[in-house]
Amino acid sequence: MHNSKTFNRFLDEHHERFLRELADFIAIPSVAAQKRGIQEMADLLTERFRKLGAAVHQYPLPDGGSPVVYAEIGSGPRTLLIYNHYDVQPEEPRDLWHSGPFELARRDGKLIGRGVADNKGTLLARIQAVEGWMATQGELPLKIKWVVEGEEEISSVHLEEWVKAHREMLSADGILWEGGGYDEAGRIVMAAGCKGIAYFELHAQGPNHDLHSSLAPIVPNPAWRLVWALSTLKNPQDEITIDGYNDHVRPLTEEEIRLIDALPFEAEVFKANVGLDEFLNNMDARSANRRLFEIPTITICGLDSGYQDEGSKTVLPARASAKLDFRLVPDLTPDLVEELLRNHLDARGFSDIEIVRLGGEKPAKSRLDSKLHQAAIAASQDTWNKIPIMYPWFAGSGPMYPLSVMLNIPVLSAGATWHPQARAHAPNENILERDYFDDMRFTASLLAHFGQE
Ligand SMILES: [Zn+2]
Repeated sequence: MHNSKTFNRFLDEHHERFLRELADFIAIPSVAAQKRGIQEMADLLTERFRKLGAAVHQYPLPDGGSPVVYAEIGSGPRTLLIYNHYDVQPEEPRDLWHSGPFELARRDGKLIGRGVADNKGTLLARIQAVEGWMATQGELPLKIKWVVEGEEEISSVHLEEWVKAHREMLSADGILWEGGGYDEAGRIVMAAGCKGIAYFELHAQGPNHDLHSSLAPIVPNPAWRLVWALSTLKNPQDEITIDGYNDHVRPLTEEEIRLIDALPFEAEVFKANVGLDEFLNNMDARSANRRLFEIPTITICGLDSGYQDEGSKTVLPARASAKLDFRLVPDLTPDLVEELLRNHLDARGFSDIEIVRLGGEKPAKSRLDSKLHQAAIAASQDTWNKIPIMYPWFAGSGPMYPLSVMLNIPVLSAGATWHPQARAHAPNENILERDYFDDMRFTASLLAHFGQE
């Protein structure tokens, strides 16, 4: 076991320098969607790994993709693979920020800036934790392999291909994922998987330009075509009605149901926060909690056609479009969903509706009883004196599939920086300064437990 006293003293002594380094990370606007600051950030990160003493390499990706920064350090009987990303979401809308999005601000115990929660804070805290370990404890008790990609916020478009080409190099006994933190009640939460996602735009085309709506008796309206097509995807009971879709939904196991039903769920707090009196179909809290994990979804995220401004305009629109996200549970995949959707629409005479895929990630589930999970529970007790809440998977999505499922390595999203008011992807993104340093304590303790024979 490590000496937490000397480790903690090191964190105190280097508190300000660690935050200056964080400020340097936040200062680079590495927005993958706009290809800004990407190489600069990859270079700064590479330099930071070098300073740590790690062997580090940048892997360029095709089509001008953001390079993967890969680092290795330490040795021992076990190998921990750590996943983080160095890209961030765009900072817009800028005028809602209380300080510059790319200047790390310290206010009311918070650290504020784009990417500080998602996920430059935890990326750097883990590096600084390893520095602190080596400075106070000596040799690392295990080998660490770091995969830091720069395209997480644009659906990790090249990660699966890259992992396929580097299978051997990436072998490990466990993967420490980004994310993890606190729920509304201050419990420590961790997750061993995530749902997948497929994102599509549907387009319907009518006449070659907008027409006077008096022509409606003889001209097909793409807005009606689109809503008729959409209405075949779900019924009013909110069940997905795409042909063959539900045959690919793997039922929960008894064990999973038991785990999910035992999870705390703040149903009333949630309803109050979003201003609703009841859940969908007036379901009870237990069903709501179970469905969050169990159910694949289709969400109409946006609908667009015709005239949307003030007052009336009698127009028959030329085009209509919808944005849809599908959250996927095993064994649904983005390819399969696209194929089922196409066949379903064609079979109903909607072959004129164009489907454009904007992104996709497969769902990932991992075992919950691995050495990594045990180490994380022990580290949580060391750091907070709390047993963590272990979600079997998150209702959200991420690129866990290539690393965890394809390489068959247990994965766990765990750490200290995520909290319910973190405002990730939004203005005034923040973490608590205390949590930033707790993340280092948690990481060091995890290394100690996971590295133990
Ligand atoms: Zn994100």
